[in-house]
Amino acid sequence: MSDSEPRDANHRNSDAVPPGTPNAAENTCRRCSGSGRIDGAECPDCGGTGKVLTPVGGAG
Ligand SMILES: [Zn+2]
Repeated sequence: MSDSEPRDANHRNSDAVPPGTPNAAENTCRRCSGSGRIDGAECPDCGGTGKVLTPVGGAG
C-alpha cells in the first residue's frame, strides 16, 4: 500500500552514528541483542558484529 518504507522509524538503534563520529563508542546492538543475527540471518544494523556505534556522553 505504501511506496515508502519507514526504515529509520523501525531502527531500534536510533542513536547509532556512522564510523568516525567523535565521542562514539561500541555498544551492544539492541536490534539483535548483541547476537549479530536475526532469525538466522545477519543483523542489518550491526552487520553481524552484535555491536553498533553510539554517542558517548551525558551523565553516563
Ligand atoms: Zn545487530
